[in-house]
Amino acid sequence: MQFHFYCGDCDQYLGEKQSFKESSVNCEGCSVCRVDNLADGNFFVTFSVREQLEELLKRPDVKTVSRLDRIDGRIADILDGALYKNVFEDLDPVCENALSITFNTDGVAVWSGPRGSMWPILYVINELVPQIRFKPESTLLCALFYG
Ligand SMILES: [Zn+2]
Repeated sequence: MQFHFYCGDCDQYLGEKQSFKESSVNCEGCSVCRVDNLADGNFFVTFSVREQLEELLKRPDVKTVSRLDRIDGRIADILDGALYKNVFEDLDPVCENALSITFNTDGVAVWSGPRGSMWPILYVINELVPQIRFKPESTLLCALFYG
């Protein structure tokens, strides 16, 4: 988990920290000392996509489908769509096991006040079989935004 801070006055990105407890960040954009404002919610959190993918793909119930085994002309999944096919048609054949990701987000009200919502950035692996792809334990968390 990585914390990323930004200035609440000018929105300049202030950098990342391993822990929320590390403070003492100064904004070069507006020269306002931000030390006391780190707890104001001017940050977002990211999570390692690599680690989550490794854990997900190790699960014995997780099975992938091949984009090469699709039936021409039949639209039954995202793998059958024209946009999806366009992304992969120029790839080197060595990349036949490449995975693609669909991201989504929606705000969740978590507390009252002007910064009372949280925005989880979630993603799923398109090449997982649909019965596994949309299970809660297969939906991964990329980042959390507050605001
Ligand atoms: Zn600033």
